[in-house]
Amino acid sequence: MVRELKEVQGIIFKRQKYKEADLLAKIMTKNDGIITLIVKGALRPKSRLSAATINFSAGTYVIYTNGHGLSNLRTYKEVKQFDGLYQDLTKNAYASFIFDLIDHAFVEYQPLGRYYDLAMFALKKINDGVDSEMITQIVQMKLLSAYGVEPQLAHCVICGKEKGIFDYSIKMGGVICNDHFGVITSRMHLKPKETAVLRTIGLLPIERLGTIKISEETKKATRKAIDRIYGATIDLNLKTKKFLDELKLF
Ligand SMILES: [Zn+2]
Repeated sequence: MVRELKEVQGIIFKRQKYKEADLLAKIMTKNDGIITLIVKGALRPKSRLSAATINFSAGTYVIYTNGHGLSNLRTYKEVKQFDGLYQDLTKNAYASFIFDLIDHAFVEYQPLGRYYDLAMFALKKINDGVDSEMITQIVQMKLLSAYGVEPQLAHCVICGKEKGIFDYSIKMGGVICNDHFGVITSRMHLKPKETAVLRTIGLLPIERLGTIKISEETKKATRKAIDRIYGATIDLNLKTKKFLDELKLF
């Protein structure tokens, strides 16, 4: 592929020093996947590009790219910051983890499809002050499919029952109804309402999940359950998750 100038719409989510005065910035784009950009001279005082590539800046960027490897950031148009995130360590930690998690589910330049909308949804909600922990759990349940784990949440994996009391089994890859609680030894022994939360946040479209409210106790239990599901099915060891755990937010 030839090198070309291209306008991409996206969110900057990670940056690190590169060479003398340059930065490498990762951008999650709407149509072109996740791209690592060289930002020339970004570490020089008064660099315009530096301000436009602060973490969680969103906008339209003009890049020079050949569709693989490193691309170059040339300029930008209409970039805005999510101020609520930039100022707040906790929100920042949650958002960083979410983007890290999405980043690891894809190879560079692979289009993200609906997962880009999921990232945008999460960022807006966290920026607006919606419960970051809950938003993160929603993203995690929805992101399992991007990692090739397709948990069966809609109905019992054994008999297909859709309504009733359920538990979750990592080994069976989904929910099981209480008709089989006695025979499935691999179930997680979640409370019915905890499994109900996992099903709801995994199944309902994001537009309907923005205001979900659950008790702290249930939220702790579903956090543990999601950590167990990820630990058992996906080989990940993210610094952003470790940091979040160390904050001991609840
Ligand atoms: Zn069943």
